[in-house]
Formats: sequence, C-alpha cells, structure tokens
Amino acid sequence: MTAEHTQPVLEVRELQISFDMYGKGLRRESLRVIQSLSLDVRKGEIVAVVGSSGAGKSLLAHAVLGILPSNARTKGRILYKGEELTPALQRRYRGTEIALIPQSVDYLDPLMRVGKQAVSVRGGGEARRTARAALARYGLAPRVERMFPFQLSGGMARRVLIVSAVVATPALIVADEPTPGLGTEAATETLRHFRQLADEGAAVLLVTHDIDLALHVADRIAVFYAGTTVEIAPVLDFKEGKDALRHPYSKAFLDALPQNAFRPIAGAQPYAGKLPQGCLFADRCAMRTETCADAVPMRPLRGGEVRCVHAT
Ligand code: SF4
Repeated sequence: MTAEHTQPVLEVRELQISFDMYGKGLRRESLRVIQSLSLDVRKGEIVAVVGSSGAGKSLLAHAVLGILPSNARTKGRILYKGEELTPALQRRYRGTEIALIPQSVDYLDPLMRVGKQAVSVRGGGEARRTARAALARYGLAPRVERMFPFQLSGGMARRVLIVSAVVATPALIVADEPTPGLGTEAATETLRHFRQLADEGAAVLLVTHDIDLALHVADRIAVFYAGTTVEIAPVLDFKEGKDALRHPYSKAFLDALPQNAFRPIAGAQPYAGKLPQGCLFADRCAMRTETCADAVPMRPLRGGEVRCVHAT
C-alpha cells in the first residue's frame, strides 16, 4: 500500500495561532500570527514545510508538540492517527510516539554526558543498549557516550540530537530547521538520516528554509506564506520547475533560488497585524483580479492543493 492510501499519522486542519499580548496603554490584544495551516503526513513519508521566515513554519512544529508559549491560543484541529491531539495526549506522546528534533543543538543539556542524554526518555539497561546501538548507527563511536556536548563538532551534536529523538522509535518525527550551521555535507547526511527513518516507517514533518535540501529527501512539499498554506505538491513538481507548480508564490519562491533565475520577489510578506482582505499574496501577485479580495480556500489541483482562485 502506498503512503497515499494510508491514514495520515498527522493531520493539521485550518490551524490558527494567536498570541495574547499587551498593546498601547497596557490593553490586552490578541495577534493572530497563523491564519490557516493545513497539511497531512503519512507513514513512510517526508513532508517538507518551506517558506520565508515569519511564514509560521516553526510555530506549526511547536503546536504539534504542544510546546507553544503559554500566551498562545490555537484554533483548528491537529489529529494524530485520527485522534484529536489534546494537550494531555501531547504530553503523553511527546518524546515517545512523537519526537522533536529541535532547531538548535543548545537543546542538549551541556552538563550531561552524551550517553545519558540518549537514554534520558526511557532509562534502564535495555534502553542503554538501544541508545548505544543508535549512536553507533549514526557513526558515533562508543567514546562519544562519555563526552559532554561542548566536546562535539556541530555535525556530531546534530547526530546526538537525532539519536535522542529517535531512540524510542517514534511514529511521528517533527524536525524543526535541523540543518542551519551545518556544512553541505553534514546537512545532506542529516537529511539522509530522515529519509532512512521514513523508509523504516516513520512519518516525518521537516520544517526547513532550505528548499534545495528538501528537494533531495522529501516526498511532498508544503509552501507556507504569511501564516497560510498556499500550496502542497509532490516533490517531483518542484524538481520539474515552476510551470509544474500551482501558486504564484511557489513559482516565485522557486525562481528566487540561486540555481534558478535568482530573481528576488518584489515586495514583502505582510505583517500579521496588518493583513489584507482575501489572498495574502495579492500585493505581490501579477495575476490578481478583484476576485482575489474574497476569501481564498485551499482546493485540490493536479494531484496537489493550492490556495489561489486563478491557479490552473
Ligand atoms: S488568489 Fe489572486 S492574488 Fe492570490 S495568488 Fe491567486 S491570482 Fe494571485
């Protein structure tokens, strides 16, 4: 059975995230930073989430794990294996069924030896043996177990983070920008590990600003813009080029890559507090018409999904 025909491990439906904050005169205000994110990830599949910074990629990762700041409010649905992912379930599954590979290696405890960090979730002799095997699998010699994080290179620290996350064989792995600061070789190797984990049956949500690396490992790519999903497409469409894509922003995003036309997109992503009516990309879109000022829902198109009234 292909990934396409199985029940999603993760389903995110029209997720909104707002933050309560104090505005002028200490008035309490709510700022909605995520407008509408939807996607799903199936067993054995890597779905990469791409978009410029501020598009909402990392907030999605944190919402799935239930680790948003306390002033965050969410609306919409997040389902894990068909079940509503409540805060209680997020606590129960976090670190076991659902694992986070965080953005920064600062998540490693600087005062704890590597071997201990790799078994911290499960503990016990059997867990130690499993962790040792996992470290070996990621090319980390037994002596690394005795090391502290500051003694590791960037690539090694990154591998330790992966081991700590996957040692409990989670069904869903959320990797939040796992490659910044790594050289091309170490970044490619990190992503190869994700491919391996997906091939062994995990569902992987890969949040990255680096679409080029995503193209190497992902099965599908979701493009975020100003807190909305604007397109979800098979990776082959991105490899084929902009004509195979559906949304004007995805096309422009691809065109802006150095290996393509290297043409920056004119204008800027709108600020969350000052969003236009209707399509959020309208100010930068050459195809806009009056219809674009109405609400624009996601719709299926050519084996993918798009949030654009004129996409064909
Ligand atoms: S809905 Fe209109 S403005 Fe928005 S991307 Fe499509 S054509 Fe452009």
